[in-house]
Amino acid sequence: MAKVYNFSAGPAVLPHAVLAEAQSEMLDWHGSGMCVMEMSHRGKEFMEIIHDAEHDLRELMQIPKNYKVLFLQGGASLQFAMLPLNLLGDKKSIDVVNTGHWSKLAIKEAKRYANVNVVASSEDRNFTYVPAEETWQRDPDAAYLHYTSNETIGGLQFPFIPSSANGVPLVCDMSSDFLSREVDVSQFGLIYAGAQKNIGPSGLTVVIVREDLLGKALPSTPTMLNYQVHADADSMYNTPATYPIYIAGLVFKWLKELGGIKGMAARNDEKAGLLYHAIESSNGFYYSTVDAPFRSKMNVVFRLKDESLEDTFLSEAKKNGLVQLKGHRAVGGMRASIYNAMPIEGVKALVSFMMDFARQHS
Ligand code: PMP
Repeated sequence: MAKVYNFSAGPAVLPHAVLAEAQSEMLDWHGSGMCVMEMSHRGKEFMEIIHDAEHDLRELMQIPKNYKVLFLQGGASLQFAMLPLNLLGDKKSIDVVNTGHWSKLAIKEAKRYANVNVVASSEDRNFTYVPAEETWQRDPDAAYLHYTSNETIGGLQFPFIPSSANGVPLVCDMSSDFLSREVDVSQFGLIYAGAQKNIGPSGLTVVIVREDLLGKALPSTPTMLNYQVHADADSMYNTPATYPIYIAGLVFKWLKELGGIKGMAARNDEKAGLLYHAIESSNGFYYSTVDAPFRSKMNVVFRLKDESLEDTFLSEAKKNGLVQLKGHRAVGGMRASIYNAMPIEGVKALVSFMMDFARQHS
């Protein structure tokens, strides 16, 4: 058995069972005599793998028939450009909610192609809350509204799905909370997520797009950045990220076995609950930087009251097999990413370490 409890924000922990299965199939996938990495993407073996992965994802998220599932590359970052290129059509502007680092990067890139209307921002209080929806200044003629459901760096998560007011399609960067809680896909025009948190290895980006939004790409859109091209080719216009798709398929099967997204959401609630309780009950030794209703259940960001202890905290944690807890350099402090694949034992081990550490250093 491995090893350590890995709290990395991404690439992140994968289910042990999935890694073990991949290991057992490494040299010979299902009697084919080949490793998945060696297979032609158009051969019947890989076609079965990608078909099953899509089928299982559709089942897990109950994706309606009028949505395409695309397995793309370029990371979530490439979506920041693909979105306006493909969805602007004859409109001029888009609406965005600014809740942190990833929202800002999405805004910066979209500005190259569209007028960007920031409908609400929590930058005034350092991205510690999500502005109330009633206060958003929305444009009824926007091509779409973009938001980031979970800010991986700030540890800020939307507790609600915005409304698709005036029929303006909702577009969501779900990179760091995809498959972690139930969402009604039919409320969205497009959902996207880089794989390296809750899906599988980096190198794969999943896009779920409503079919009526396809076919509107700006004429200058590169072929490889056109959703329609990938949709028409069932994500096989060029060579897709075959091995990440295979691992993603194993992760989807693992999720189904554990009770699907509903089951996973209950575990995630429990894990986040334990950790935030430990922070809250530390008499201020640890504190959360985010307003309570918006604290992420995936990326638990916290600080130590005495910042001079943070390096010791990290090195002691590492000695206890609790790794990758350092917060992003933009915000500092600690960040415990507790994605689907983080077992509850890992969170309990962290909580117990935190309590001991606080006792020793109070
Ligand atoms: N959006 C969010 C919410 C993220 O967490 C990340 C990566 N951590 C990105 C976008 C960028 O993803 P990528 O590195 O796959 O381009």
